[in-house]
Amino acid sequence: MSSTTHYSDLGLVNTRDMFKNAMEGRYAVPAYNFNNMEQLQGIIIGCVESRSPVILQVSGSARKYANQTFLKYMARGAVEMASELGADIPIALHLDHGDSFELAQSCIDSGFSSVMLDGSHHPFKENAQLTRQVVEYAHARDVTVEGELGVLAGIEDEVSHDVSHFTQPEEVKDFLEKTGVDSLAISIGTSHGAYKFKVKPGEEVPPLRFDILDEIAKKTPGFPIVLHGASTVVPEYVAMINRYGGKMENAVGNPEDQLRKAAGSAVCKINIDSDGRLAVTAVIRKIFAENPSEFDPRKYLGPAREELIKMVIHKNENVLGSAGKA
Ligand SMILES: [Zn+2]
Repeated sequence: MSSTTHYSDLGLVNTRDMFKNAMEGRYAVPAYNFNNMEQLQGIIIGCVESRSPVILQVSGSARKYANQTFLKYMARGAVEMASELGADIPIALHLDHGDSFELAQSCIDSGFSSVMLDGSHHPFKENAQLTRQVVEYAHARDVTVEGELGVLAGIEDEVSHDVSHFTQPEEVKDFLEKTGVDSLAISIGTSHGAYKFKVKPGEEVPPLRFDILDEIAKKTPGFPIVLHGASTVVPEYVAMINRYGGKMENAVGNPEDQLRKAAGSAVCKINIDSDGRLAVTAVIRKIFAENPSEFDPRKYLGPAREELIKMVIHKNENVLGSAGKA
């Protein structure tokens, strides 16, 4: 392979048709983050078994962790494994929270089919300019681009904010026209990480702002909306982690029924990172606690992968509605 790789050579697709189908079918495409082989396999097997399209997602730091060249072949391997398992599901490789033109460009040149430029921490004008620059480079190569308006609270690989600023619906149309993005991440009450909300035990998580989502959908009918920080922070995994020596206090997420409702609206992509991390950590903690003499990585990474497969199938069937759509 030459130093520049187009995603189509890896068997990947961009997100355009995925979102068109999701909008028409009133479901959301899952975007699962991964860092290693077992996570990637778990995601692919789960999506093949539930016949779901999938967006494989990495942050800039996750790309560095895996090595950008290695990552390219992992994506290629994922496509071929899906095919061998009997389902050529649509698979996109997406940069999560790209923070510069150079990073987006580097990802596009190494086989990504979709990139996010997150300029949401900049003022509107700078955000639009930077996003536009990425869109021009990406669209010339048939790569799709996700922008962001509004700020999510919480901590993720590349981003950390104390407070959220909900997306202003009146800014959306202008931003889409100025940038030409293919999808837009908005802030309506989801939050990054496992410690999303400062709620006391028994207290309810603040509901998502469906009024803002509805207003945006009304102003830009048919335009694909993205929800970040949309892990439910599966309580069973948090309990398992705490039971087997972990310490995760007040880790809560948005309830499944709210996300399911969002998936049936203009929301076409739902990002899930924390829940995958929790599944893997919970299983490994349990095995380490119960079998302290175990030292074969396959004996704990294997079951972690199995749990991830179960989680992905559950999400696709019950939260995203994407099962059976590929
Ligand atoms: Zn995010």
